[in-house]
Amino acid sequence: MPRNVKITRITVHQYNWESRDLGTDYNGFNTVYSPGAKRTARGHVLAIETDAGITGEFAGGDAASYVQVGIVARYLLGKNPLERERLYNDIKRAMRKLDRMGMGPIDIALWDIAGKAYDAPICELLGGWKQTLPAYASTLHGDHVAEGGLSSPVAFADFALQCKQLGYKAYKIHGWGNDPADPKYIEREVDNVLEVRKRVGPGMDLMLDPACEYDTWADTLKVGKACDEANFFWYEDPFKDGGISAFAHKKLRELIKTPLLLGEHVRHLETRMDFTLAGGTDFVRVDSYYDGGITGALKVAHAAEALGLDVEIHAPGPAHRHLMAAIRNTNYYELGLVHPSIKTNRPPIYADGYSDDLDAVDSRGHVPVPQGPGLGVTLDWDYLRRHESGKVVYE
Ligand SMILES: [Mg+2]
Repeated sequence: MPRNVKITRITVHQYNWESRDLGTDYNGFNTVYSPGAKRTARGHVLAIETDAGITGEFAGGDAASYVQVGIVARYLLGKNPLERERLYNDIKRAMRKLDRMGMGPIDIALWDIAGKAYDAPICELLGGWKQTLPAYASTLHGDHVAEGGLSSPVAFADFALQCKQLGYKAYKIHGWGNDPADPKYIEREVDNVLEVRKRVGPGMDLMLDPACEYDTWADTLKVGKACDEANFFWYEDPFKDGGISAFAHKKLRELIKTPLLLGEHVRHLETRMDFTLAGGTDFVRVDSYYDGGITGALKVAHAAEALGLDVEIHAPGPAHRHLMAAIRNTNYYELGLVHPSIKTNRPPIYADGYSDDLDAVDSRGHVPVPQGPGLGVTLDWDYLRRHESGKVVYE
């Protein structure tokens, strides 16, 4: 029986931080290494307070998601934060005209409240048992910086070897954008796949994520055949259908043998399972922030389990460490995005040393699962207050 607790206040904190050495590539979207560049980025923390004196926190998310949080804030006030399934289903309906990206921050903050209320890490509430998780080094997109950049297949291979030395057992390439100025971009993608495999040898799992950059299905097939030749672990969201055509990827699966990982851009449980049952993917993607929080992501993991498939969690973060600690049918934690010349591309918002930077793995290439109550991380509120750029309070 849930304890009688009520949500009393919801605050969306905004802060500014300065990112260094990061810019964007030809299209203005992919983040790439850009030495000397500085830009002001905006971050968010969602805080859900209760009348039990417990506050659930989620750090992350973008401005669009917090517009959606605002839409359901009045509904949440006075509700019992421990009734996550009820809130998930009500908010899912309320956001039916939207992409529901606002559900993730809310649900994760509710799990943080639950962990703090029961004085247990979220992974324990989920029945988790893994203390550490094998990670893959997930690179930034390829750039054009000759010195210290990821500007060639040789540079990607050098960095893969560096990651291998650090302990990583797996490495994922985000290649170059489909720069219209470069007619040979597909040949370079093929060369990258073959070069990295040649240099790291057979003992490292390799993945390729073009992040929907390839113009045509035919280009996608060409690079897929290179992935076959280089025995890649998975091939993810390759082309400009945007990662949402089950039909196109079913056809692709008939012609290449490398497993596909699709679903990052297909939102939530029902749509994702329709996509999977239509034959559009081999591995099932999930992200608690994109897919209805830990509650939604767990549903996807169990639905994949019912089909005998593995679920692969997108992007790093404390919530994903707890989630992965409690899922059998999963392989790797995505650590990134990493680059040989960038020590960190994240704001220093944790006061307890929590990190998803390149050097966060142990010698076996594992990251630890936080063991404190809730998400088990401590936000640096001194830093966040000093850099505060705005705040929206619902009470
Ligand atoms: Mg991806």
